[in-house]
Amino acid sequence: MPLYEYYCSDCNGVFELLRPASQSAAQQPCPECDLEAKRLMPRDFATFTMRDGLPRRIPDRGTYWHMGQEVSSPVDRPAFAWEHPEIHKEAPVTAPTSEEVDAFDHRIDRESEVDREAIARDMYAINPQRDRERMQFLERLAATDGLERLKPRGGKPAE
Ligand SMILES: [Zn+2]
Repeated sequence: MPLYEYYCSDCNGVFELLRPASQSAAQQPCPECDLEAKRLMPRDFATFTMRDGLPRRIPDRGTYWHMGQEVSSPVDRPAFAWEHPEIHKEAPVTAPTSEEVDAFDHRIDRESEVDREAIARDMYAINPQRDRERMQFLERLAATDGLERLKPRGGKPAE
């Protein structure tokens, strides 16, 4: 006979009983107070049912599981395999502070100066990391309608 756990809400106590599997669902009298105690569902293994062709935990609450986290719907748009829109919410784009805009303006001036010197010595080289950082900041400004916060500049670098 398997061993089952029962919980008495009156004593707030757990006790174990050997019971035939066919009777395991029935309430059992608490050895302390003799009130009926409910069986505790075992937690060391998971039980599953099938819905939409996928296994669901019991009780099936109509939810889905993503990487061990409960979500209300399956992934319904393109996403990386390990991501779920309810869990991996995109951070809202925040407008840069005026200090950040000033720092970016200063940086563009400084880097343009470096570029001009490099061009003059025929040693100019593209810098993908720098371009990426610039682009990220410009995209953040554009997303927050802040492009006009930048210092106005001429379209072409000085020759
Ligand atoms: Zn009891």
